[in-house]
Amino acid sequence: MKTLLIKNARVLVTMDDQRREIKDGAVYIRDNVIEQVGASADLQQHADEIIDASGHVVMPGLVNTHHHMYQSLTRVIPAAQNGELFNWLTNLYPIWAGLTAEMVHVSTLTAMAELILSGCTTSSDHLYIYPNDCRLDDSIEAAHKIGMRFHASRGAMSVGQSKGGLPPDRVVEEEGAILKDTQRLIETYHDASRHAMQRVVVAPCSPFSVSQDLMKESARLARAYGVSMHTHLAENVNDIAYSREKFNMTPAEYAEDCGWVGPDVWHAHCVQLDDDGIYLFARTGTGIAHCPCSNMRLASGIAPIRKMLDRGVSVGLGVDGSASNDAGHMMGEVRQAMLLQRVGFGPDAMTARQALEVATLGGAKVLNRDDIGALKPGMSADIVMFKLDGIGMAGALHDPVAALVFCTPPNVSYSIINGKVVVRDGQLCTVDLPVVIERHNALASQLAMGAAG
Ligand SMILES: [Zn+2]
Repeated sequence: MKTLLIKNARVLVTMDDQRREIKDGAVYIRDNVIEQVGASADLQQHADEIIDASGHVVMPGLVNTHHHMYQSLTRVIPAAQNGELFNWLTNLYPIWAGLTAEMVHVSTLTAMAELILSGCTTSSDHLYIYPNDCRLDDSIEAAHKIGMRFHASRGAMSVGQSKGGLPPDRVVEEEGAILKDTQRLIETYHDASRHAMQRVVVAPCSPFSVSQDLMKESARLARAYGVSMHTHLAENVNDIAYSREKFNMTPAEYAEDCGWVGPDVWHAHCVQLDDDGIYLFARTGTGIAHCPCSNMRLASGIAPIRKMLDRGVSVGLGVDGSASNDAGHMMGEVRQAMLLQRVGFGPDAMTARQALEVATLGGAKVLNRDDIGALKPGMSADIVMFKLDGIGMAGALHDPVAALVFCTPPNVSYSIINGKVVVRDGQLCTVDLPVVIERHNALASQLAMGAAG
């Protein structure tokens, strides 16, 4: 049993039931679980390893609830820089058709490295396109290698253009094969236990790329195994128009009709979710992944997060895929979440601490976990440390916790995931990052050139 003590934190943000912020705080970890939290002087002083957190904010690792990590290979593609969702997708599908297993693996490492360095310790990923030799197994292996807590979503597209869907026929799969592979992945990788490092999620892509039948069958499969369900919903006005025209329903009605509401379900975006939908989600415990940068980038609108929180909807934060962000900086996303609510609903619509709560406790709830998102005894040891002596926070140290959100988004100096030090002195310990970036760039240009040729 290895013990680790983090002590002398300038402020320790617990996100516990009283939302305590402890001055000169400390955390004592045994193996992968938090054993004690309190003032440095009050905790056990001996441990196998001691990390001095002087001059740092120490807080629970952030939780990312929506991403498409493979899209890190197709950032700022010129033809997709200035369109709304459907136009953006139509320009990218032909490029993504060239995706390979190695590209999935390397881009997952790249996206996770960026997330981890920016304060995230748990992420979901929604991989919904499986051309060539691509498998979800390759992103699960990448997560294991880099040491990130991972909810791998087996996405899918089954309705191509010839059947009235948006994606070209060559990137969609047959529904029987999708369900079979999803079942294989759950049986191979899903770990339902407390402190699990890998879980599998059932995740057909969106109303405009899968059938109602696949939505219903997926829900049946997920519930037979007790795994979570995830998809895109009510992202922009065209998305709403498609649901009205094709199903004669609002997105919320469609979700309910397919069995896609409940505490085991979370939907990405919900920018255009109507009041009835908000009540439905609150009543059923259905979660939302809010992705402010992507919503701004694609001009989808401003999700009514203040209203959703007030009505009791579970809301987490997501950076979304890196073709529509095009950053994957988790603390940067927290900042944008706070700012965007203010643009939409006034200066008191979201505080820095509320934004941090959405990104920690909110994300944990949306992913259906009770073991992450807070620093308290019995929780998983997922802890991040931000150093306060940089230029970005100069002059803001009277409130270092708010400074993390208001000032230039910082990177972590330490990240501990499941009790293991994954970032030390600002450097990733688990992968050779320059090598990963070099390979990622080579694969990105190969992918773009393949589409051009
Ligand atoms: Zn998405």
